[in-house]
Amino acid sequence: MLTDYHVHLRPDDDDTFASEYFTPANAERYREAASERGIEELGVAEHVHRFVQALDVWTHPWWEKWAHDDIDEYCEFVREQTDLRLGIEADYVFGREDRMATLLEQREWDYVVGSVHFLRDEAVDMRGSEWDVWTGADPEKVWARYFETLGEAARTGMFDILAHPDLVKVWGGDAPVPDGDLRRFYELAMDGIADSDVAIEVSTAGLRKPVGEIYPAAPFLEMCLEAGRPVSLSSDAHRPEHLGHEYDRAVEWLGEIGVTELAVFERRERRMEPLG
Ligand SMILES: [Zn+2]
Ligand SMILES: [Zn+2]
Repeated sequence: MLTDYHVHLRPDDDDTFASEYFTPANAERYREAASERGIEELGVAEHVHRFVQALDVWTHPWWEKWAHDDIDEYCEFVREQTDLRLGIEADYVFGREDRMATLLEQREWDYVVGSVHFLRDEAVDMRGSEWDVWTGADPEKVWARYFETLGEAARTGMFDILAHPDLVKVWGGDAPVPDGDLRRFYELAMDGIADSDVAIEVSTAGLRKPVGEIYPAAPFLEMCLEAGRPVSLSSDAHRPEHLGHEYDRAVEWLGEIGVTELAVFERRERRMEPLG
């Protein structure tokens, strides 16, 4: 079994209107691309910030810029006009946990992908924007805050899958990486992860980013496996051609680490299926 769950039906561009991308024809393009790559379990997980209902959770100016679509229309489209699993990529927003939990509980997802993009008001993956956490930042502090926040996200229990777990490395050499063994940072997330029931996303998206690596790093994944956490496999595709990106490499890498099963989700119930 191969899965691709963390999938977006449209690129992160200004002119990507729901009316053009939330269509049966577009869903079928994704299904066909997935089938060509042997991916049976296919689901979509739109960014929560693209829905007006996200503004009930958080009114960050960057979210206000993006929140245009109706979340219930998205759910209805996926359920009634496609054969895809229904998911969402929801942020962990410090201090807004109850509000996000309410938004999520009101809809019947197959799974919720939980992401840490923001540390308070600043983002780890918006280099050069006014919200860039890296401007003048001490990498030791950013990495520590990032993994502390990731552990808190896991501990909330709101998420089925923890997305791109070491996203903080996204810029590779374009943002400073702390020296030495990075496990001292991973440790900061591990109590929260060990106390949770969350699946750990292995994402090939990092291979398309400046860092050029799978998320997460092997030592991070090994620590999660020791904590008893299952693995979820995704590409974070934003176009059909991204689906299953470099999965051959990911499957081989997972085999080397000793992962033999993948998490499969339906109506927020998880089961394990053999990998490959
Ligand atoms: Zn993300
Ligand atoms: Zn995503």
